[in-house]
Amino acid sequence: MTIAIIGAGIAGAACAQALAQQGKQVVVFDKGRTAGGRMSSKRTAAGYLDLGAQYFTARSSAFRLQCQQWLVNGVIAPWHAATAQYEDGSLIASPDNTLRYIGIPSMQAPVQQLLAGMDLRSNCRIDSIHFDGSHWQLYSEDQLQGSFAQLVLALPQQQAAQLLLPYVTQQPLTDTVLADLLYGDTALQPCLAANIELMQAVSVPFDAVFVKNDAAVSWLARQASKSGRAAAEHWLVHFNSDFSQQHLEAQPEQIAPLAAAELQRILGQPIAVKEALCHRWRYAQQAPGFAVPGFTYQAGLGLGLCGDWLNGGRVENAFLSGMSLAAAVAV
Ligand code: FAD
Ligand code: NAD
Repeated sequence: MTIAIIGAGIAGAACAQALAQQGKQVVVFDKGRTAGGRMSSKRTAAGYLDLGAQYFTARSSAFRLQCQQWLVNGVIAPWHAATAQYEDGSLIASPDNTLRYIGIPSMQAPVQQLLAGMDLRSNCRIDSIHFDGSHWQLYSEDQLQGSFAQLVLALPQQQAAQLLLPYVTQQPLTDTVLADLLYGDTALQPCLAANIELMQAVSVPFDAVFVKNDAAVSWLARQASKSGRAAAEHWLVHFNSDFSQQHLEAQPEQIAPLAAAELQRILGQPIAVKEALCHRWRYAQQAPGFAVPGFTYQAGLGLGLCGDWLNGGRVENAFLSGMSLAAAVAV
């Protein structure tokens, strides 16, 4: 029995690896060129730039064990960032002992390692699925990609909901838990990101800023503080979810000057911008208050859903969601 997984982010990759370790045959589909999803660094002429997930922490024993394996294989490393906090106009050092990891040389490296040797069909966007009562048929550009007894959707809520909508309208789901999860409250809020390359290095004694209770920004980070990333002076600006929602359809040429102005405001010193690169993450961070069952599995349909949005956001939670779903599928 072959299991299809749509989505090669950390959740889909964790699920795929766990299922393969149980001896299951797995085929993973992703619309992207490489695996990684929101855990991906952008490859540029200057080097890798982290525009999405910035780092990850490990609190659970299962994820700590996985991190140990990645460390041994050299696909992650600790990120010894000097941290600061900005709140109410005041920028102060905020050192802590948190062990934070990054992918080496890019954020997707650990995801790619989970999928090493597996049947990964990249550049393959699944745009429709059909359930015939016992199997799921997957289509990309009207081409049948296969028929599978089990289907895992390791996708953000809105993308999973879109794929399942025709099925739900043809044959209303009797499982209200699944319907509520997919079509109830919004699980993921957006995040606008802007990488600002500066003409000259700024002189600040930190690499990253947690921005609290701000009208626009949530996070700043210096790319060069991360091993494997662009060496020149690049600062990443993440706008907070309210600001991102309000400016979601703004164009990069509108966002870039706003990000540069915010960077200058928070760093508290003049900057000269060389270049800017913006990215719109429509599905980024967990909406506060969204119920988190961890994953969901409908044995009768052979349908499972996993991903960060079902488990509280964060890389570690996405990984654990994929692992938990794999354990349920195996029963
Ligand atoms: P995804 O990574 O979104 O994977 C889903 C995959 O599905 C993608 O690869 C996508 O290409 C694919 N896909 C979608 N639709 C289709 C389709 N129809 N057909 C085929 N493939 C499809 N977490 C942290 O722990 N620390 C951080 O610092 C952090 N910062 C973040 C900053 C930003 C801007 C963002 C966006 C996220 C951040 N996160 C952070 C959250 C973290 O990135 C996510 O929790 C995690 O990567 C989600 O993994 P996932 O596998 O659930 O989903
Ligand atoms: P973590 O333990 O480093 O941080 C958790 C939270 O604790 C931070 O968001 C921050 O509010 C606070 N914090 C930690 N260290 C701090 C310091 N030195 N000074 C001031 N505040 C500090 O990381 P985690 O729990 O693994 O969380 C993952 C991170 O990913 C969080 O920062 C979260 O905001 C971020 N994230 C961002 C997005 C996005 O779309 N921008 C999406 C998902 C997650």
